[in-house]
Amino acid sequence: MSKVLVIGCGGVASVAIAKICQNDKVFSEMCIASRTVSKCEAMKEKWQDKTSTKISTVQIDANSKEQVVDLIKKFQPDVLLHVGMPFHNIILMQACAENKVHYIDTAAYEPEDTNDPVWREGYEKRCKEKGFVAYFDYAEQWSYFEKFKNAGVTALLGGGFDPGVTNVFVAYAKKHFFDQIDYVDILDCNGGDHGYPFATNFNTEINLREVSSPADYYENGKWVSVPAMSIKREYDFPEVGKKDMYLLHHEEIESLTKNFPEIKRMRFYMTFGKSYLTHMKCLENVGLLNSTPVKFGEHKIIPIQFLKSLMPDPSTLGPRTVGKTNIGCIFTGYKDGQKKNIYIYNVCDHQEAYKEVGSQAISYTTGVPAMISAALLATGQWKKAGVFNLEEFDPDPFMDMLNKFGLPWQISENPVLVE
Ligand code: NDP
Repeated sequence: MSKVLVIGCGGVASVAIAKICQNDKVFSEMCIASRTVSKCEAMKEKWQDKTSTKISTVQIDANSKEQVVDLIKKFQPDVLLHVGMPFHNIILMQACAENKVHYIDTAAYEPEDTNDPVWREGYEKRCKEKGFVAYFDYAEQWSYFEKFKNAGVTALLGGGFDPGVTNVFVAYAKKHFFDQIDYVDILDCNGGDHGYPFATNFNTEINLREVSSPADYYENGKWVSVPAMSIKREYDFPEVGKKDMYLLHHEEIESLTKNFPEIKRMRFYMTFGKSYLTHMKCLENVGLLNSTPVKFGEHKIIPIQFLKSLMPDPSTLGPRTVGKTNIGCIFTGYKDGQKKNIYIYNVCDHQEAYKEVGSQAISYTTGVPAMISAALLATGQWKKAGVFNLEEFDPDPFMDMLNKFGLPWQISENPVLVE
């Protein structure tokens, strides 16, 4: 029986919390800690009569290492599940390594202020050395390997769907279907409709930073950079239909090409509708996607945070979103000397997710694997001290739990390939 400390209480957290409550044989106690404690209390109210997991709540500022360490010492969790903002990954990792607690997050570290001169210097160096320009990468988090190893605990990076399940799909494909994987295309399709002209389906700030930044893919040992939204393909997604998808940089390419150096090319595509792209371009052109503070009257504001405050909260989209997501990986490689193509994917229905836990499918597809990652560490089924990405563990128990906890996956042989 394990104790889990959940940091954050937004869209993804609300699903992870629901799933922790469903898995009460593993999680005997959960503390929900976030900036707005009323949201944590509402979650406790919602689930406490439906689970034997004992739930407590507390207000916390994840920017304060002191507060995090105090809470860890008081609650004494086995696992800390970070489903808040990636700005806090480093502080939370430090607190976990120093106090021998397993750590999990769902997005690679990026700083809140990308103009911070110290961070900027390291960033410019990384752009030159590695060749990709996204604000997020794994280098700093990976540098905590020895600290976690010496503490005898695990940091599991990127435990949502993508990154997360997509990493496990690659490990599963390699274990069961391929002697050698040459090409991987990760396709993230949201065929859902929430009825708003413009809304993001997870944290607005992180989503817009990710999508508006220059795109990259990995080919023959190098990153290839192209302008944002400049590579477009149409794909006919199983159970969703034809959608336009655009090449993006995504963090799992960084870890997967390191852990499977045989992969010759890896690309990531996400679907977007015309209305989303037009709004995003317009907001970018007027400067509202900037994260540098500007003076407004007597106050300083951060434009992208001001924009977020005006937009629909992604965690409220559940009741109005209809349609399905389809996220998966297309593999090309060899088995027993024969060329082989397979597609592993999950389809998730927004309204079914809403009926079950009160959230849309993007939060659902992230929150379920976050709970699974926590459970595999808590039960010791995944056991290695250090800092790892999900593809570095046995994929089988994770794949079994996806089926059990609401994200069944499918495999199709000889799918249509992305040109
Ligand atoms: P939300 O904005 O809905 O939730 C963020 C939560 O963090 C909120 O509860 C917020 O509190 C809390 N928070 C923010 N600042 C602080 C702070 N200083 N101290 C304590 N708590 C704080 O985001 P999502 O749920 O949509 O996304 C959560 C994470 O999941 C993000 O990192 C996102 O990038 C990642 N993600 C990963 C995916 C994957 O597949 N791997 C897919 C989708 C998202 P408050 O309520 O006060 O605002």
